[in-house]
Amino acid sequence: MNTFSKKILAILWVAIIAMIGFCGNVVAQEPAQEVLPQQIETLSTGSTESLTDHSRATKFTAQDGQLSFTFPENVAGIYLEWEKVPTSSSILYGKQSKTMPQFLHQYLSIDTPSNQIQLEWTGQGSLCDVYFFTEGALPDWVQAWQPSCEKADFLLFPTHADDEHLWFGGVMPFYAGEKDLAVQVAYMVQHQNEPYRWHEQLDGLWTVGVEHYPIIPQFPDAYCETLEQAKQIYNQQEIIAYQVEQIRRFKPNVIVGQDVHGEYGHGAHQLNTDSLIQAVVMAADASQFPESLSLGTWDTPKTYLHLYPENQIVMDWNQPLERFGGKTAFEMAQMGYACHTSQQGYWFAVKQSGSYDCRKFGLWRSTVGQDTEPDMLQNLPTPTPVPTATPTPTPSPTATPNTAEDSSSIEESSTPSKKNGVVIIIGLAIGIAIVLILKNTIKKGREES
Ligand SMILES: [Zn+2]
Repeated sequence: MNTFSKKILAILWVAIIAMIGFCGNVVAQEPAQEVLPQQIETLSTGSTESLTDHSRATKFTAQDGQLSFTFPENVAGIYLEWEKVPTSSSILYGKQSKTMPQFLHQYLSIDTPSNQIQLEWTGQGSLCDVYFFTEGALPDWVQAWQPSCEKADFLLFPTHADDEHLWFGGVMPFYAGEKDLAVQVAYMVQHQNEPYRWHEQLDGLWTVGVEHYPIIPQFPDAYCETLEQAKQIYNQQEIIAYQVEQIRRFKPNVIVGQDVHGEYGHGAHQLNTDSLIQAVVMAADASQFPESLSLGTWDTPKTYLHLYPENQIVMDWNQPLERFGGKTAFEMAQMGYACHTSQQGYWFAVKQSGSYDCRKFGLWRSTVGQDTEPDMLQNLPTPTPVPTATPTPTPSPTATPNTAEDSSSIEESSTPSKKNGVVIIIGLAIGIAIVLILKNTIKKGREES
């Protein structure tokens, strides 16, 4: 074998070994193990026991908090569940430090596994629980949120935490979970006095496959019997301005809103949709809401409203979904709603029949023609599944201190699409090496003969 062939063979071997190692890492990742700290030290007053009791009801609260954790083995990731997200927070390990994303629930990987980790924050922070993991595949319940979408395929406008499952049914499990599309959820209200609902909200979204952090504005939750009453309680112009901003920011192909009659008549639901049908039109109009014009105008191709009687489609939420181990979109919607434990005592349920059928949507407005089949993406260009968005700043006034996103600090996570890209590149390198070897062998053969 000549020197050229030897060189090529060496390249080939390196590529094959890299690919085997890489695929092994992707396909057969061992489950990550939870590691309990053997020691927790803090400069703040207050007991640290609540941090590892796996209960959101107990909290460790501190102004400018500092916690040092020591472990019996190295840990490779930290998962925090806050009740009040501080102004900023970071972890220190070895000589490295990393800024934590400003999400209520957030996982952060530790690049160099360590048996000593320090967590620091500025401002008032209230931490329910902290979990640590070894390297490996994380349990499903660990939420590694991506920043809100850069550009959304779907933009959903539920009113309260739980409306997204009850009335939109399989939209999230099917389009976000199974199809891996960019699905952004933007609520109308926050549950200012019910912290447990903030957790239920994220748990539910995560369960059904939503990975982009939701937008939760500061409009308070208030019960209103009628649309007129809701207009007395809320400033409708502010709600329309908020919705216009979300539409201009996320530039969705499809918007999904609630029933114009408020599902069961809830005034806030009615106000949400009454505002939305104005916002969809105004978002495309450069003469409206100049305060969000820097985001550009946007004319949303398709807007669906739950139960809207015209141009109605009945979605099929009963197909088994690969992403969820064969469970259907309907079953996943039920599981998402089940995360809202505080709401289970009411009569609400995710239903596929009767007056609140979560399969029925009317195409209220379309710039791309009418549907002829139950497919919310019909007549639209095929979207590309890109689950990871580039971090973008949050325009005011959408985020609350408790749920504010600070995407500037989000670490890049290695997504399947990126991994596939690497596999393709390695595959190409192997292919080129084989062609070069064959060419050289043939050439050599010719020279010898
Ligand atoms: Zn509601």
